[in-house]
Amino acid sequence: MAAGDRGRRKMAINRRDLLIASGGALTAAMAGRALAQEAQGQPMMGNPTLPLPPEQRMGWAVVGLGSFAVGQLMPAFGDANRSRLTALVSGNPEKLARLADTYGVEHTYSYDDYDSIIDNPAIDCVQIALPVGLHAEYTIRALEAGKHVLCEKPMASTSAECEAMIAAARKAGKALGVGYRVHFEPTNRAAHSMITGGEIGTMRHVRAEHGFQADPENWAPHRWRLEKQLAGGGSMYDIGIYGINTSLMMLEGDAPVSMSAVYAYPKDDARFREVEGGVEWRIIMRSGAVVSGSSSYCYSPYHSKQTYIGSKSSLRMSPATTYYDNALWHEQGGREVQVSTGAPYTQFAGQVDAFSEAARAGQPHATPGEMGLRDIRLIEAAYRSADQGGVAVSLEGV
Ligand code: NDP
Repeated sequence: MAAGDRGRRKMAINRRDLLIASGGALTAAMAGRALAQEAQGQPMMGNPTLPLPPEQRMGWAVVGLGSFAVGQLMPAFGDANRSRLTALVSGNPEKLARLADTYGVEHTYSYDDYDSIIDNPAIDCVQIALPVGLHAEYTIRALEAGKHVLCEKPMASTSAECEAMIAAARKAGKALGVGYRVHFEPTNRAAHSMITGGEIGTMRHVRAEHGFQADPENWAPHRWRLEKQLAGGGSMYDIGIYGINTSLMMLEGDAPVSMSAVYAYPKDDARFREVEGGVEWRIIMRSGAVVSGSSSYCYSPYHSKQTYIGSKSSLRMSPATTYYDNALWHEQGGREVQVSTGAPYTQFAGQVDAFSEAARAGQPHATPGEMGLRDIRLIEAAYRSADQGGVAVSLEGV
């Protein structure tokens, strides 16, 4: 998504500038403390304990130093308590040297010598932040090098690739997770608690609307997103997946049984020669609940909205899955009350720390490879339905 959050990047840039201006890992830790103070008294996802000393933390390599890695993932290590950044991997030597210097990262690799991470005990976990079409290859290479892998969403271009990644993790005996950060974000955690705690009654309908305006002329990361080989698919892969994954997170214990979808974007739009620009989709759950959503590369302004309609009351989140300013309202008895939930920007640190702890303990991560596979299978089902004009497709076995 990244670019959809561009209007909200001020906070991230300020924080990044702070890190870069003062330089080094120490400064990242200070920035983390400043943010922790800012969130005093609020739930700090992933930071339930005192920080471990650096030598006891899991060491992380970030692969692909693009807008998401540099803007969000790397600064987040300043907030982490269980994880530290020990290596960077990039195809751009100047950027690699500059960022390694800025963050005080000792180990750097190009894509050519990436496999030699096998010899580096300072790397326990690898975070893949490359274009989607490269996720499977770089995940499998890291697993074969004996590292745990947290791969960015969407997991891969096809369900077959996801299956190969899961098989590689099993063979290596290493953890494989997918970067569904929303599971560690306090506002969404609060909604999840309210829903699973029965506050809205029985879930009847979920509506998920996610989209932004793809702008390949002015924003380079949007270029590969419109090329099938690097992107895997279109808006469903990049932004619609938030609607699917977040909705199913809230419907814990339920299961999707069928899906239908239609394509929804201007047919003559030159941006969408290789991938779809938009999809309107619907999932029927085993419980009878209906989840419907839209995914688009043609929305202005940026959309990130989730609505959970229950038999007793409803929740509304707008925005629902952004980096910084998600908001939750409880609608009950004709009144709408905003639910206070704390500092959402800890979601990135929460995610890496949770993965570090799960990998160290040999436990599955909260958002494992199997979840990434499920979501790619759902998107493939949506495309199958849309290719047939919207017929319902069975999700048995998904
Ligand atoms: P960018 O285009 O900004 O970065 C991708 C990086 O991958 C590049 O900077 C480059 O890094 C490297 N790369 C290697 N080969 C290629 C290639 N052939 N074409 C383009 N880049 C290449 O993308 P994003 O940072 O926006 O996205 C990266 C990943 O993160 C994607 O999987 C995306 O879905 C995910 N993402 C997740 C988000 C979330 O909230 N969880 C939000 C945004 C993105 P280098 O120069 O260092 O080699």
